[in-house]
Amino acid sequence: MTKKIVTLAGDGIGPEIMSAGLEVLAALAPKIDFDYEIDPKNFGGAAIDADGHPLPETTLNAAKNADAILLAAIGGPQYNDAPVRPEQGLLSLRKALGLFANIRPVQIFDALKHLSPLKPEIIDGVDFVVVRELTGGIYFGEHTLNERTARDVNDYSYEEIERIIKVAFEIAEKRGKKVTSVDKQNVLATSKLWRIVAEDVAKSYPHVALEHALVDSLAMKMITNPSDFDVIVTENLFGDILSDESSVLPGTLGVMPSASHAANGPSLYEPIHGSAPDIAGLGIANPISMILSVAMMLRESFGETIGAQYIENAVNKTLLDGILTKDLGGKASLKEMTAAIISNL
Ligand code: ATP
Ligand code: MG
Repeated sequence: MTKKIVTLAGDGIGPEIMSAGLEVLAALAPKIDFDYEIDPKNFGGAAIDADGHPLPETTLNAAKNADAILLAAIGGPQYNDAPVRPEQGLLSLRKALGLFANIRPVQIFDALKHLSPLKPEIIDGVDFVVVRELTGGIYFGEHTLNERTARDVNDYSYEEIERIIKVAFEIAEKRGKKVTSVDKQNVLATSKLWRIVAEDVAKSYPHVALEHALVDSLAMKMITNPSDFDVIVTENLFGDILSDESSVLPGTLGVMPSASHAANGPSLYEPIHGSAPDIAGLGIANPISMILSVAMMLRESFGETIGAQYIENAVNKTLLDGILTKDLGGKASLKEMTAAIISNL
């Protein structure tokens, strides 16, 4: 059956890198018999310009009915004073689609090891995934700001914790190693419940090891022993901080994809970086984060494991060939990098 993919190119370098991602998909599709159609929709600042709102009704409806959603990037300084900012569109979209699980793979390409701020012997073998709960916790509890006091409520239910821990175990089962569940169990009630649920869920996954870590110690170990981890799962606030920390390991934002999943309905795939307004329209953006987001989509939404692997191998080969964009220390343009990846497919 034809897969419906809604694309949200957005702002800044968004349209350039989205085109690159779709070119790679178009080149790959016949090789793996993947039948799809693209439905481009306005989103973010581009949608504010066109329709006066970052998440127009037509975009939301198309997204809800899609088989998967690709998002490039949104936002930019010109929208700082907009009545509804582009980022609000993304929060509304996540909420409307129930995207509760955010997945960020962290790996360091052999050809890019020198970009990492960490020593080569420390990053050797780094290959882990951060799974962040995205729709609960302190972000969505009651916030009260008084003159001399303030209060934020951190709420989690058993079910909310269970579904995100399950996502982590499902990923770990395919990768075959272990889950590191991160909390602050020595202080927080939500973390005490978190640990109980993690133990309960683990019983259904006898082939996956479970370990617990306190968030402060994990923050340290992610830098001192990053190759110890396989799947790291944690709640919303800790996940926000740890996923940004993890994104520093490769030393570049331009190569990192992400996925967000709901209980039902389409998943959304996007680069972890922003719209990079400083280089928008110059044709020098690194398209790899978007291209690897396409690979994640193929694997996680459509079960196209081999197609995803083709893309990942082609990216790896291209980097080893020394085709590097400016952010990676090279001179290749976005178009040259994209063409090289396609020829390596
Ligand atoms: P946001 O607030 O939207 O997350 P940000 O402030 O984190 O944005 P980014 O837009 O992610 O910033 O950009 C941070 C820096 O990284 C910028 O200098 C940008 O040019 C660079 N950068 C980000 N993505 C890419 C890319 N794909 N290719 C090249 N450079 C990039
Ligand atoms: Mg940012």
